[in-house]
Amino acid sequence: MSLLDVFRPDVRAMHAYVVQDAAGYIKLDAMENPFTLPPALQGELGERLGKVALNRYPGVRVYDLHAALRAYAHVPADYGLVLGNGSDELISLLSVACAQPGAVALAPLPGFVMYEAFAKQSGMQFVGVPLTPDFELDGPAMLAAIREHKPALTYIAYPNNPTANLWDDAVIEQIVAAVGANGQGLVIIDEAYQPFASKSYLDCLTKHPHVLLMRTLSKFGLAGVRLGYMMGRKDLIEQVEKVRPPYNISVLNVEAALFALEHADEFARQAATIKSERERLLAALATMPGAKAYPSQANMILVRVNDAAAAFNALKARGILIKNVAGLHRLLANCIRLTVGQASENDALIAALADILREPLISNPA
Ligand SMILES: *Cc1c(COP(=O)(O)O)cnc(C)c1O
Repeated sequence: MSLLDVFRPDVRAMHAYVVQDAAGYIKLDAMENPFTLPPALQGELGERLGKVALNRYPGVRVYDLHAALRAYAHVPADYGLVLGNGSDELISLLSVACAQPGAVALAPLPGFVMYEAFAKQSGMQFVGVPLTPDFELDGPAMLAAIREHKPALTYIAYPNNPTANLWDDAVIEQIVAAVGANGQGLVIIDEAYQPFASKSYLDCLTKHPHVLLMRTLSKFGLAGVRLGYMMGRKDLIEQVEKVRPPYNISVLNVEAALFALEHADEFARQAATIKSERERLLAALATMPGAKAYPSQANMILVRVNDAAAAFNALKARGILIKNVAGLHRLLANCIRLTVGQASENDALIAALADILREPLISNPA
């Protein structure tokens, strides 16, 4: 017997999430917005945070943030809204709230890893349905899995991470309809990359009562603040609200998020710059013999190369940190994921990649 036996075997078998030290590197690995606030706004924010009552538990100021988010996202007042410490926490809370014996969470793969992680942690079963080799939804496979497993939760990331694409609307409509026909499941549309995407499923909320829409301020530009929000039919959101720790959003998160939303125009300018930098990166990648870049509607680009590990190491040796996603799923063989940075960072990335990816692509394993 060991004291460790107190812990669940599946927890003992897990690895904790480790944050790498990125000091000194051009950091293009985590879909962060590369821009900070302009100095004048930094000063203003500092003053505002300085006045916050840190001695008190978070109070009703959080409802001002609810209202600001509703206005920002154009969500009708009769819909529910719940806040999470990042949308990661919302995925966790939703999993906990829905983890009845035998309950299933379903998502396309490769996708956002937290859907599976939190489903399993909370005791749900997870069913992953592979995308097609060009990273589209496999409609027939998704519909068959939905009929077979009757998932309580079906996640659709729009755009998807790490593939960065928007999926076919007709297939998404079929998935929403199939879950609706089961009569016992929710579809969660995860729009983490909404600031960079040309389309949104906001109107799906009013059309389909079983659809929840999840967003975050992380990719918008506040990854360090930790604020996610989920909207949907009031009585559904209320169930998630019941498992939410009462003070999960700190007074500092609330005030910083309110401040950011008051200056949404600044963040919109940043998103516009990121989108045009994304197009510049894509154009440069198109000229490199050893790169196949996939279309992006996010602030990241998925690229297939001859040797993902070698590309990762060569970039790191040149002071640039990206993500090697090749190990995440067989469909991602030799794929790397680049986050769009500031112009000067992208210049450095383009120069390094042009040097590293000169050999033509040997094979496209997909
Ligand atoms: C980054 C990301 C999130 C989570 O972001 P938080 O920082 O926890 O709000 C959610 N979904 C997808 C698809 C993401 O890529």
